Amino acid sequence: MTSDAPNAGPIRVLSLYDDVMNVYADRGNVLAVQHRAALRNLNIEVIAASLGDALPESADLVLIGGGQDREQRRIAEELAAHGPALRAWAEEGVAMLAVCGGFQLFGRWYRDTSGEQLPGAEVFDVTTVAPGPGQERCIGDILVTSTLPEVGAVVGFENHGGRTYLGPTATPFARVEYGHGNNGADGTEGVVHGSAIGTYLHGSVLPKNPRLLDWLLARAVQHRTGVMPSFAPLEDVLESRAHRAAAEVARRRSPRFA
Ligand code: GLN
Repeated sequence: MTSDAPNAGPIRVLSLYDDVMNVYADRGNVLAVQHRAALRNLNIEVIAASLGDALPESADLVLIGGGQDREQRRIAEELAAHGPALRAWAEEGVAMLAVCGGFQLFGRWYRDTSGEQLPGAEVFDVTTVAPGPGQERCIGDILVTSTLPEVGAVVGFENHGGRTYLGPTATPFARVEYGHGNNGADGTEGVVHGSAIGTYLHGSVLPKNPRLLDWLLARAVQHRTGVMPSFAPLEDVLESRAHRAAAEVARRRSPRFA
């Protein structure tokens, strides 16, 4: 552990439903966290929890990926039942990254393509509705600018039918530069609440966005040790090359958000 705090034990990373919610290989975000933690000499412990599992006593970073409506229906009730614990963790500063279908179910509810309203964990003040007749899915390479200055530009791939709308207390994670974002209409992407982020960006998103990864890791360390670490810059040669390439593809192939 490189932080100045006394050894507070390993950073606890909770991977939620990664055997169900793993569309577009979002489980890669867990691998990216493990790789980055090793580069930063951080001692981490990865815990997986899926259908039928209780949540662990504590966590410092929670990750959940995306899934089609079918997978979301499988986990929604149980995830909503975990809502009080997840909301308490979010309020005490646990870092979280919820992607696409996971993001939707970390909101208040998701009305899916069958018209069924799936309950959410209510970590985020957002609601999501499946596209109406004639509405296309939001698919393509995406480039956004985060509202978090330390994070900056973020690249990824989106593929969702759901349109997400921010509630009165919600702050967008980013503004869309190229692509669709939350609903293809208001120019917002994702949501941020404390150290918890919801986003539509698959990729998986963390390997190509080291500043976002460090933002989450730093908050996980702060939650575990009480000290916000100051990470030394890393070369990030491959990460930067992948980031630039993905940004170029988004600029070339996706609609510029006016
Ligand atoms: N099933 C949800 C939708 O279509 C989420 C899809 C996903 O996670 N890629 O909007």
